[in-house]
Amino acid sequence: MQKQFHSMCLRRFDFASYLSGATYGDKKAALERHLCDCDDCFNTLMIVLNQQLNQTHALLAGLPMIGRAHSRSSCQASAGR
Ligand SMILES: [Zn+2]
Repeated sequence: MQKQFHSMCLRRFDFASYLSGATYGDKKAALERHLCDCDDCFNTLMIVLNQQLNQTHALLAGLPMIGRAHSRSSCQASAGR
């Protein structure tokens, strides 16, 4: 019997790249398989997810005028008119 994925628990970097979509293909499949098998890593994934949500909420709460403060994101500068 082979439990090969239990030998490689995930680190924060792995979670970060997985959640940001940078992990794909075989690596993503192996990672998700490991999450199914490993409660520790699954719990960590939940913690990381919650932290990201909290950070996003804090960011939005700190920027009440988010649309106006960053209006230069529409590319007026490149048009030159
Ligand atoms: Zn693990």
